[in-house]
Formats: sequence, C-alpha cells, structure tokens
Amino acid sequence: RTAQALAGYRGPATTRDGVAVPVLANVQDGPGTRTAMVAHAEGVGLFRTELAFLGRAAEPTVEEQATGYADVFEAAAGRRVVLRTLDAGSDKPLEFATPPEEANPALGVRGLRIARRDPGLLDRQLDAVAEAARRTSTSPWVMAPMVATVAEAADFAARVRERGLVPGVMVEVPSVALLADRFLEVVDFLSIGTNDLSQYALAADRLSADLADLTDPWQPALLALVAATADAGRRAGKPVGVCGEAAADPLLACVLVGLGVTSLSCAAPAVAGVGARLSAVDSTACQEAARAALAAEDPRAARAAARAVLTAG
Ligand code: PEP
Ligand code: MG
Repeated sequence: RTAQALAGYRGPATTRDGVAVPVLANVQDGPGTRTAMVAHAEGVGLFRTELAFLGRAAEPTVEEQATGYADVFEAAAGRRVVLRTLDAGSDKPLEFATPPEEANPALGVRGLRIARRDPGLLDRQLDAVAEAARRTSTSPWVMAPMVATVAEAADFAARVRERGLVPGVMVEVPSVALLADRFLEVVDFLSIGTNDLSQYALAADRLSADLADLTDPWQPALLALVAATADAGRRAGKPVGVCGEAAADPLLACVLVGLGVTSLSCAAPAVAGVGARLSAVDSTACQEAARAALAAEDPRAARAAARAVLTAG
C-alpha cells in the first residue's frame, strides 16, 4: 500500500484528515529545483546558496549571483522559495568569506556571523536576491543561518525588509528555540535546521560517526526544542518549518507535524515518501506520536513509541 501511495504521490501533502503540510525541497541550483518540482515538491524550503561557491577564491559578483538565484526562482515556477544567505564556515568553508584559522570553526565566525567581519558581503548578496526577485516577479523568503540573538535577527530582518523581501531565521542554535517568541516579534518565519540544532544542543560534532547516537534527530531533547519553537509559532500565528535531515524520515516527519511544525523540507528524492506517509495518518495520531516520542528515554525508544502509535491507526 505504501509503495503504491509513493508511486502515486502528486502532492500537495495533507494528513488523512485534511491538514495541509507543504513538503518542500532542499536545493542548491536551478537544475536541482526542476528535478524537485517534477518530484512534486510544493516549493523550495531551503536554497543553500553557499554550495555553488565552494572552492571559489573570489566573491561572485552581484550579477553572477542574481543570475543563479533567478534560475532557482524561475524553476520553482511561482511556488514558495526560501533562500538561505551564505552559510560559510565550519563544514562549508568559503575561501572569500571564512576566517582562515579558528580553533573551533563550528563555534566560530560562520553563517550570519561572517557579516560581522564583512557586512558588505551580506548586503551584496541581498541586493542580488532582490534583483533576481525583480527579474522573475517572485517574492522569495530570505533566512539567515547560525543566528544566536534577537539583535542579530532584527538587524538581518531590517536589511531584508529594506529590499522588499520576507525575512526569517534558521533555528540552529538552542538560544533561538528558547526565546522563539521574541525572535518571532522581529521576523516573519522560522526554519529549524535539525542538523546543526542537534549538534549544538547535544554538544556533538555533526560529522562525527562516533557520536552519531547523540546527534540522532530522535533525541528527546531535540524534539523538545522543536516543540518549543512550534508552540511559539502557533502563538504568533507565523510559520515554523523543519529543513534538516530529520524532515526526510517519513516517520519522524509525522512526529514533527504532531509537534506543530507547519512545513517540511527535504532532499527531492525523499519528498514523495514523506508526502505519502503524511497522507496515511491523522493529525491527531501525529500529536499522540509526538507526545510519546517526547516522553521517551532515548532515540531508540522514541522511534519505537512513534511507530507503535502511527502503525496502529
Ligand atoms: C541544518 O543545519 O539542519 C541545515 C538544514 O543546514 P545545513 O545542513 O546546510 O547546515
Ligand atoms: Mg545548518
């Protein structure tokens, strides 16, 4: 039955009882966006802009950036696009943006923090995004990675609004989940990056195979941070998505929806599996599975508890 549902998935994604939960795609360029749209993604939930510039010595010009961004906006053909500003540093070093030597790059000048050293880099990227939006008559949402304080979010939001774009921030640092209500006073949406949020919440390198049990997205502490963020989104009436790897696991996707997340974004090949699974469960079962997973002792128990609830109905 699941294989059939998967092959027949056409979107838009809704739970069996009709709650719409857009399943979007994580992309890095125009061709990948076209593939994602063919796979019935309802838009782009994470456009990782830095990936096109890995290995480049010099900053791309505004024109080159605008052309690349416009390609993705065009490919999304009027659907939602959430563009992330350069996430340079740590696991994604950019020669023209990242500081050369840091003892702890994951805790260093990465993501939005590169704008402290070089605010012009962020401004030029936002100019390019605005130009691409103008050319394609689209209104992308624009979010910053590795935000830690409300002041950073407010400064970023002002720069984004100035250009007529919609500002948001990623929830990758636990401080944002803890003060999500205050962040939502200054931005229009939040997007939870579970890959980094688990790294920083559990203090375990996301690239370490030895610590994979700690960065497991089923860790109840990570689920609690997702729940706190989603609750704040509900209070503010603003969208809270998940765009980390967690959203690609169909069972966990149901739990995230049960925690109150309003959209999911995953790699294109995972879209149909997530959408098909959501269409087979009721939102109330998702909520019950979320409660069970949150109360579990460890990731394995959380997974088992969610599976028991979601395969029962
Ligand atoms: C994340 O951290 O979960 C995320 C989506 O961003 P990236 O994997 O690109 O760091
Ligand atoms: Mg990240």
